[in-house]
Amino acid sequence: MIDADVIIVGAGPAGLMLAGELGLAGVRPLVLERQPQLRKTPKANGFNGQIVELLRYRGLLHRVETASGRPIRPAPAAPFGGVNLDFSHLADPVPIWAVPLPQPRLERLLGERADELGAGIRRGHEVVGVSQDDATVTADVRGPAGPYQMTTRYLVGCDGAHSRVRDTAGISFPGITYPEVNRLAQVTVPDSVTRLDNGDLDVPGLGRIRAGFTRTDRGVFGLGSLAAGVLLIQTTEDEPAEADDDAPMTLTEFQDSIRRVLGAELPLGEVTRLSRYGFQARQAERYRDGRILVAGDAAHQFPATGIGINVGMMDAVNLAWKLAAVVGGWAPSGLLDTYHDERQFAGARALLQTQAQVALRRGEDLAAEALRELFLELLADEQPLRRLGALIAGADIRYPMPSRSQAALVGAFVPDLPLHSDQGTSSVAELMHTARPVLLDLAGRADLRQTARDWQHRIEIHTAETDHRPADALLIRPDAHIAWAATRGEPAGTAAPALREALFRWFGAPENGGRM
Ligand SMILES: Cc1cc2nc3c(=O)[nH]c(=O)nc-3n(C[C@H](O)[C@H](O)[C@H](O)COP(=O)(O)OP(=O)(O)OC[C@H]3O[C@@H](n4cnc5c(N)ncnc54)[C@H](O)[C@@H]3O)c2cc1C
Repeated sequence: MIDADVIIVGAGPAGLMLAGELGLAGVRPLVLERQPQLRKTPKANGFNGQIVELLRYRGLLHRVETASGRPIRPAPAAPFGGVNLDFSHLADPVPIWAVPLPQPRLERLLGERADELGAGIRRGHEVVGVSQDDATVTADVRGPAGPYQMTTRYLVGCDGAHSRVRDTAGISFPGITYPEVNRLAQVTVPDSVTRLDNGDLDVPGLGRIRAGFTRTDRGVFGLGSLAAGVLLIQTTEDEPAEADDDAPMTLTEFQDSIRRVLGAELPLGEVTRLSRYGFQARQAERYRDGRILVAGDAAHQFPATGIGINVGMMDAVNLAWKLAAVVGGWAPSGLLDTYHDERQFAGARALLQTQAQVALRRGEDLAAEALRELFLELLADEQPLRRLGALIAGADIRYPMPSRSQAALVGAFVPDLPLHSDQGTSSVAELMHTARPVLLDLAGRADLRQTARDWQHRIEIHTAETDHRPADALLIRPDAHIAWAATRGEPAGTAAPALREALFRWFGAPENGGRM
């Protein structure tokens, strides 16, 4: 007997986003989370990147903003391999949006949304093993009332870096662990330490400590400001032992690390957060093994901060509608495998830029200094700075698509075009609230609307005008990526068959059951 169509292991950002997106697609998953309560200590203090746009497309940004209590704003800067990228002077469009929402509050919000959309969430239930056959997956669970088993059609491991699901499914996780430890604290400083207007600190007996990163013989000292006089301080030291991100860190351990890195004492006031983490560069060799899939940190680890939530939640958005199609019994052949193809590709891009950061950050000799200096010099120009911003945000991802659909936009995240129609003005973002696929006719193309009508049970058809038409028509998937585009003025003789092929490929058979 099937207990749930989909079981999600882990109620972190990836698992809860997946639960909500599956709910939008009409599937009611069950989430099993080993922690009895929401975690209190944030891992991430916030997140950024393309997922912010996606949340806006889902109409969720106001909820995120309310939960944060602070406005979502363009990131004025971003750390990149120990150098600071300054975006503050760039006009629209903004390269990266930053959301100052600590992870526990993000998880609360995503959990509430998943619950509203019909997902079940069981906290205090740990999955200790998984096995699968041709038709089902069985999860061995340890719950508050003892061990039990659950059977599902598909199981997704969103259970973090040390994923039990990934390991028991035999999915290898190759890569490296860097021999360094980062220690992070949110602190205030006593009156004896002066906070200067530019963010620097003046410390008695030590002198000035710059905002940003300070390299010393023993490591790197990072200094940033949060709201209300709170500082974010981080030390980075080379240490051979692997850091345990989940093990608690004491204040003494943190102060000892500061003393080693700076060579002197830094007086601290109130300490509201202490955590330790290491860096790994790893990626699951397969994101799918039969009926078991992995997403989020279970699928990838990046050796830089500020990346994980964006990539993990975008995994979930990509997977949800495909999994729902399989569960709903209408998925075209190979659809679920495109989850691996597309998101492993996206993860590899994130690994590319984060490993480049390691090379920039960890180099200690004069050659490395020269590289950092040259790198900053190149980024004085707007174009490379924007390009790097898009790379960090994951906004430049263009999923590899079948050969016949190579129009410039295909595979990319759909831009938020303003849409004018008889009903008034809206935007692409508004069309994506319900996560339904859309054929968007921007040029009065009756031929294309006619073709799409056979798939009206799966997709919505909209006609509108826009200010600067990038294409005659766009086929937009539920994850807000463009599956197909008609170039401007493309004749019906080529556009309509290509649309038909794309509709078959992504949304299966037409309503009347016709063939391709
Ligand atoms: C100190 C620190 C700072 C960070 N800062 C940032 C940042 O600023 N921005 C950013 O984007 N990212 C940041 N990250 C990374 C970010 O926290 C992760 O990328 C993110 O949490 C990954 O989400 P996830 O849902 O994939 O996994 P997780 O958040 O790890 O969630 C996995 C969940 O699965 C549960 N679980 C595990 N095993 C089982 C099991 N067997 N059965 C049931 N449940 C299980 C866990 O309890 C957990 O709740 C930071 C990480 C650390 C450690």
